[in-house]
Amino acid sequence: MKFPTIGEIATTSVVSIDVKSSITDAIDMMLEHNHRNIIVIDEGEFRILTIVDVLNIQTKKIDLSTQLKDLKLPAVPAIYKHKNVLDTLEYLSDNVDYLCVINDDDSLYGFITHTDITSNIDPDTLMNNFRLQDFLKLGKRMKWVSKDEKTSDLINEMVHNSYDNVIIVEDSKPVGIFTTKDVMKLIKNNKELDLPISKYMSTPVDTITRGASVKEALSFVNEKHYKRAVVVDEDGNLSGIIAQKELISLTYSGWAEIMKEYHEELNEINAKLENKNKEYETRASTDALTGLYNRFKFSELYNSSYTSMVQRHNDMSLIILDIDHFKNVNDTYGHNVGDNVLIQVSQTLLKTLRNIDIVCRWGGEEFIILLPTANLGQATLLAEKLRTYIEKLEIDVVKKITSSFGVSQVYEGDDMKTVINRADKALYLAKNSGRNCVKTEKDL
Ligand code: GH3
Ligand code: MG
Ligand code: MG
Repeated sequence: MKFPTIGEIATTSVVSIDVKSSITDAIDMMLEHNHRNIIVIDEGEFRILTIVDVLNIQTKKIDLSTQLKDLKLPAVPAIYKHKNVLDTLEYLSDNVDYLCVINDDDSLYGFITHTDITSNIDPDTLMNNFRLQDFLKLGKRMKWVSKDEKTSDLINEMVHNSYDNVIIVEDSKPVGIFTTKDVMKLIKNNKELDLPISKYMSTPVDTITRGASVKEALSFVNEKHYKRAVVVDEDGNLSGIIAQKELISLTYSGWAEIMKEYHEELNEINAKLENKNKEYETRASTDALTGLYNRFKFSELYNSSYTSMVQRHNDMSLIILDIDHFKNVNDTYGHNVGDNVLIQVSQTLLKTLRNIDIVCRWGGEEFIILLPTANLGQATLLAEKLRTYIEKLEIDVVKKITSSFGVSQVYEGDDMKTVINRADKALYLAKNSGRNCVKTEKDL
């Protein structure tokens, strides 16, 4: 898996302002660009002013002409844009929400959020590297109470706020847990709900420390069949609670998006490769000028046709066709006109023959036709038909051309060379008999 560089995933639509500017200037710029954050440049260091800060400034009634440098804005770490996304992991563990992305000359390139980063790293890497503390701020639906809380009040609150569990805390330490499942049990058993929750909570609470990795937390909940993990700090004080499904979705949701994207990209590449392959295949098996099979493909097709001829005991024949005095055509009208004659003859062959017949440009103005179901007599008739069609062609400039044919049947034990040799002898005979005629192996 190749992880993207920071530059590839950073948001470049970022605005920055000098630290000596006023709050009003910053707000104006944020409004103008419709941004929720602005980077404040403080002598080469980066700070951030967010929309939340602006709201706080308002509630604290701070004078808007105050310079940004007097606000004690938090510094934002900077990372070079050519760095890999994995290089940001150390920052994430420090609970950094934003990172500035910088060019090699240290100028601001863009910025990147916690979410941008996590959605670009695969789950296994994330699970091993992320500590629970990185995610705890997300576990907002948590409620903790003292053990003296009246059970009925607590249930009401749970229902009202849809909490599915409550942690009971004493001196900041989790001493019990009470879940919706417990609520059901109490109601079913008609328990006295005016008693304090300490009477009904499950205790003690199994906890995991905030320094644990997400992977460790997942095996913790899986092993114990918990739906959630209660997280404590190094001193055992309650830090938060994180649900199993949160642990899973936090690490997988971003990844799923990426896989979807890659999947589409891969499909596209595959389709292109397939087309290219088809193109190469066609190129390797056909003659560029006429589109007929070439010698290479013909040999292949001869062999498979021969095998099936032997298996099915059917007849098979071969015709060689050579255009008469073709050299004269080239010499008189030029090569292009000659090419056109070759194309026209090819089309006549294709039009006349059946799909199962195999037509090949053997070379120059010579064609070979394999007829997988014809005996010598049928092949001879077909050759005669082709001869007259070619003779009747009205070709540009050249007008009339003729062709000579040699025909042979294919017999068991014949390899391609043997058959072509026999047909070639017949063709030679046709040429010597005045051309524009068909001769067969029987005439030899
Ligand atoms: P014959 O009746 O005895 O067959 O005489 P011919 O002139 O047809 O035979 P020859 O073999 O002497 O000449 C074939 C000519 O075909 C020579 C060559 O330049 C030409 N030729 C071969 N390939 C092509 C091609 O792709 N395009 C064109 N225009 N001419 C070609
Ligand atoms: Mg010829
Ligand atoms: Mg020839």
